[in-house]
Amino acid sequence: LLQLTRKLIEIRQVLLSVDQSDALKLPSIVVIGSQSSGKSSVLEAIVGHEFLPKGDNMVTRRPIELTLIHTPAKPGSNQPAEYGEFPDMPHLGKVTNFSTIQKTLTDLNLAVPAEECVSDKPIHLNIHSPHVPDLTLIDLPGYVQISSLDQPDSLKESISELCDKYIREPNIILAVCAADVDLANSPALRASRRVDPLGNRTIGVVTKMDLVTPQQGASIIRGDKYPLHLGYVGVVCKAPPTSGVFSSLRSQPRVTNAVLKREEEVFGGENARYYNVRGRGEGKLLTGTDTLRRQLMDVLETSMAGSLHGITNAVQLELEEANYQFKVQYNDQRITAESYVAETTDALKARFKEYTKQFNKPAVRAKLTAMLDEKVMDILEQLYFNDEARATELTRLGDDRRLANQDDLEQYWKYKLDTASSLLTKSGVGRDSTGLVADGLRGLIDSIATGEPFSFHPSASERIVDFSHALLRDRMGITADQVENCIKPYKYEVEVDEREWENGRARADRKFQEEMVLCDAKLNEIRSRLGGSRRLNALVKHVDELEKWTAKNRLRSAGSEGEGEDDSAPQVDAYKYSPAQLIDGRNALLLQNRLALLKLRQQAIRSKRCRGGPEQAAFCPETFLAVVAEKLAYTSTMFINIELLEQFFYQFPREIDSRILYDLDRDEIKKFALENPKIRQHLELQERRDKLEQVLRSLQSLVNLQADHAPRDARR
Ligand code: GDP
Repeated sequence: LLQLTRKLIEIRQVLLSVDQSDALKLPSIVVIGSQSSGKSSVLEAIVGHEFLPKGDNMVTRRPIELTLIHTPAKPGSNQPAEYGEFPDMPHLGKVTNFSTIQKTLTDLNLAVPAEECVSDKPIHLNIHSPHVPDLTLIDLPGYVQISSLDQPDSLKESISELCDKYIREPNIILAVCAADVDLANSPALRASRRVDPLGNRTIGVVTKMDLVTPQQGASIIRGDKYPLHLGYVGVVCKAPPTSGVFSSLRSQPRVTNAVLKREEEVFGGENARYYNVRGRGEGKLLTGTDTLRRQLMDVLETSMAGSLHGITNAVQLELEEANYQFKVQYNDQRITAESYVAETTDALKARFKEYTKQFNKPAVRAKLTAMLDEKVMDILEQLYFNDEARATELTRLGDDRRLANQDDLEQYWKYKLDTASSLLTKSGVGRDSTGLVADGLRGLIDSIATGEPFSFHPSASERIVDFSHALLRDRMGITADQVENCIKPYKYEVEVDEREWENGRARADRKFQEEMVLCDAKLNEIRSRLGGSRRLNALVKHVDELEKWTAKNRLRSAGSEGEGEDDSAPQVDAYKYSPAQLIDGRNALLLQNRLALLKLRQQAIRSKRCRGGPEQAAFCPETFLAVVAEKLAYTSTMFINIELLEQFFYQFPREIDSRILYDLDRDEIKKFALENPKIRQHLELQERRDKLEQVLRSLQSLVNLQADHAPRDARR
């Protein structure tokens, strides 16, 4: 025995997982018939269980591709003897309760929206049992004969179309008709005749043979009126009414037995003489579900044998195409989901390492210095420059050593410098510098985690961001405290040597230069907006006068009788300047004043006095503060490096390994890989190729086997 059907059914299952259309090239038995012709009853009699959707208004809305797999019961094994599987819903596992199968099928059918009528997306169901033959059967929605309110014309048409799709070659058509309805009215036979006029691949099944007399029955299945090459089989499938749930394992033989008993009554005994027609050159008429099963097995086996060459060639072509594509698109490179995950995490770590260079000590120090320089500027502004008169005095002091109350003044400026220095050292340097670096790291991680390929892996990307941020949060408090602790001495005293002083002076000079360039740029902007220097000067002059006048007026209205004479507003041509221009004017005035001040102070920085060294600190606050800022930046960098960066750089790659590489189970790894469309395509093509290869090998061995058998069969 070749057991061709069984092997080809296995092949079909593999093909099905590659591509539905390929699987359809292997013959299946397609069951068609009008509603209530007894289609479901026939299928259930073959399976031996009630498992198809029932109910008043229950029309099958999706094809059910039913694969029966003969599985001999293994005595002593605790494997279930009979069970169903839905390959498209692997989570359901082995379903041993047939009423659960029935419920699942019902739900799947009801899920098709009413306006869609029927769906051509098949439901796949495999049934393993020692009581079934190896068969593939496709149950289709029953033809609608009478249109009614709840079964509109469109339903009728979509069902016909769906059936037409399935009754094509090489499928075998099982046309189900009821004995008590004239075969002339059978839509199943009519449809089959259109595609298979000689009935070479159509088996007629005549149900409800108990409803006609043996004479009538025999005449129908003899098929005189509508001959079919494969003939008709008469059956009785109505199971006697049973109580409650039908489908527990033990009730199985009862369904079959009840049907067999009923068939024995209808076809045996007295009636046998009508069905066992002999003598006129005709064989015994085909009756009974058992006969039907055998007939189906025979026809399918023959048909499978006939399809073997065709399908082998088709698979060969598909495989060649897949091989070609694999070569062209992927240069024959095999990948696995695991290798993809490993490569992705490796690349992530490498990119991270590359980026961490941005966080080497000089780079961090430069960032922190820039931040502290800003603070210095603010402090200078607040303590020195806001009072223009005193700022000028300070500058003059620097030059003029002959001033009378020199010592007192020096005391004053010394005190001021102490205040400035302590404002800087106590401004929360630990918190701010740690925060600045941590922000940089966060930005770095976010950019890695949202770039390719992590844009395809949102949940992994979220994980990376989450654990990195958590890591940083963990370290930040400790680091800030450490830094704050280490700069503590500077809060009391800052010692400056000659070299540091000179460096600080150069930096302060540069910083002032930069500030002046910035002010200049802003002024230029306003100037070009206004249309030239002359206009700018006029506007600034106007704004200046206006402000002076306003200030004076405010004084006067505060009570004191001012000088009184010139109390008219400056020559304001109220409509000459727009409000926006007045704002520009005010800003320009501020910028000009600031520029003048910056110039003044830059001169001071460059003066002989400041060049004199750290003893002159009281008169050179810019230089002194620049030195303090540098020292703070240096110390902060050191401790941020130890407490935050080193820790983070050490932890991050390890966290990647433990939270992504090793934390995913096989399914999650697969899911991860498939999230990337490029990898998905690659894996799918690779899998398709592998499966086709496997299928082709099996097919070729079947072809060889068939060739071996053929001569022997011929000799017999
Ligand atoms: P389907 O709509 O074509 O699937 O038909 P069903 O299998 O649901 O059967 C329709 C009706 O015919 C049901 O009430 C069955 O009990 C009944 N029926 C099916 N087979 C037989 C049979 O062999 N004899 C009799 N008397 N009734 C049957």
